[in-house]
Amino acid sequence: MNLKIDQERLISEIEALSKFSDAEAPAVTRIVFTPTDLKARDWMKSLCRDAGLAIRKDAIGNTFARWIGSDPLAPAVGTGSHIDAIPNAGKFDGVVGVLGGLEAIRALQRAGFRPRHSIELLVFTAEEPTRFGVGCLGSRLLSGTLSADAAAKLIDKDGQPVEEVRRKAGFSGDLREVKLPAGYYKAFVELHIEQGPVLERERQPLGIVEQIAAPASLYVTVEGSGGHAGGVLMRDRRDALCAAAELILALEHAARSTGAIDTVATVGICDVFPGAINSIPARVRLGIDVRDTSLARRDRVIADLEDACRKTTAQRQVSIRSELLNADAPAESGPEIVATLRQACEKHGLRFLPMTSRAYHDSLFMSRIAPMAMLFIPCRNGYSHRPDEYASPEDIARGTLVLAETLAMLSE
Ligand SMILES: [Zn+2]
Repeated sequence: MNLKIDQERLISEIEALSKFSDAEAPAVTRIVFTPTDLKARDWMKSLCRDAGLAIRKDAIGNTFARWIGSDPLAPAVGTGSHIDAIPNAGKFDGVVGVLGGLEAIRALQRAGFRPRHSIELLVFTAEEPTRFGVGCLGSRLLSGTLSADAAAKLIDKDGQPVEEVRRKAGFSGDLREVKLPAGYYKAFVELHIEQGPVLERERQPLGIVEQIAAPASLYVTVEGSGGHAGGVLMRDRRDALCAAAELILALEHAARSTGAIDTVATVGICDVFPGAINSIPARVRLGIDVRDTSLARRDRVIADLEDACRKTTAQRQVSIRSELLNADAPAESGPEIVATLRQACEKHGLRFLPMTSRAYHDSLFMSRIAPMAMLFIPCRNGYSHRPDEYASPEDIARGTLVLAETLAMLSE
């Protein structure tokens, strides 16, 4: 099979898609279900139709473009990513996996390949949490990680319910029908920019993702007792910020002492009330993110934090309450998909690095219903979610070539 990626066409399509934007170029802003997003989707669908793919969409707007195999009833091989973009983002995040996936299919068609299993390109709805506050809305529903009832309760930043927003955008039907039946996919592979510096630093053209780390996020609120910064003596204080400081350091210690490089914990929010220079902090709210590739290790860090909360409550006579916002389980890639990706790299004489994805992706949720793996390409300086995000045409074409080879092997 003579597989050739049309690099020029692929890059010009990435450029063309970046023009569907609510921000001044080179920045891209494309929030799900805005008129700009809907125009981009229509454009995307017309490209898929030109490639002879059969298109369907579900009630949340996930779009499926299928190259029907010679055994149409056999489970499909899936690939794809997202085209929504956070405010002031770049043109490659997600897009490389969608347009690269389409070009992989076209390259296979040009090479005269005929799949036995159908090959399906998926464009996920709302990978970014910008509008509804939850990331990977489409793939959460597809995989049954999020129930239709819970999804229907989501509201956007302007207070509009998801039900109303999606219907206005032209996506009708029952959210309960979004979940895919068991065995729908034989395999799922997502091509994506790394969004980190490792491949560039190690001078490797490709990364094969063997696991995806997942975050747990929580709010911890400490209630102490406020008062005049001059009037209340130190021995009489129940300072909420001093108590919170102990929790922050306890969390850092817990994450550092797991012995694993994959454990990370961050306090990214510290709201102090009343927030006056001459007032003792009465209440503090911490926003906490803990991630790991091992669920057991991550849970241990959270348990250590809870121990610290109990200790601090007793020692400082404050009250502490915590609220878990989400706790997705990390995922392991399917060994057979990883092996196929390795073989595809070797076949084309390309080096690769086994990797961990520290950001999460739709593939994290697809792993719940199908063996999954991801293929990473380098991006300059590891920059992502900013207008100067950049991946070279050569790297994009290489990733697309390996994706095409992998889809061929999986669909035979
Ligand atoms: Zn992405």
